[in-house]
Amino acid sequence: MAICAECGKVFRPDRYNSWRERLYCGPSCALTGRKRSQRDWRLKKFETDPEWAAQARALSAVCQKARRAAIKASKTAAAEVEGMALRRREEADKARGAAEAATRQTALLLFGLCADLSDSKTPEEVARFSAMMVDKGVRLGGASALQARQSTYAFQPQVSAGP
Ligand SMILES: [Zn+2]
Repeated sequence: MAICAECGKVFRPDRYNSWRERLYCGPSCALTGRKRSQRDWRLKKFETDPEWAAQARALSAVCQKARRAAIKASKTAAAEVEGMALRRREEADKARGAAEAATRQTALLLFGLCADLSDSKTPEEVARFSAMMVDKGVRLGGASALQARQSTYAFQPQVSAGP
């Protein structure tokens, strides 16, 4: 019988298991015991071997510096990705704003043209006239003509459209 060096339990050493040599009752005690003895060895070495201690401190400093550099690099990369996304959003907003302004401009242009052509004095008269013009456009087959040439060029004269 033997006493476990880690938990103090009395146990029967099993000569087929590797931890029996270190006098641990099982794998779990062998693991914590090994970690403890490594820690104890390091602490003792720090006290007794100044040269080894200096090297260990230098190595630890190098590792810490590398770790900090890696963290900083990943933060920088994340910030760059975020900045790119922000710029893309701003560009999309700007494009949408420009498109809305163009639509407003076109609506105002049509309103002004209708007012001028019909000699209207009130918005209601302009609305009546523009409704008449839409009817006229429908009657002349304007819908199919517009569909054929994809809205952007809707107001360009085209010889091949209609009679
Ligand atoms: Zn044990």
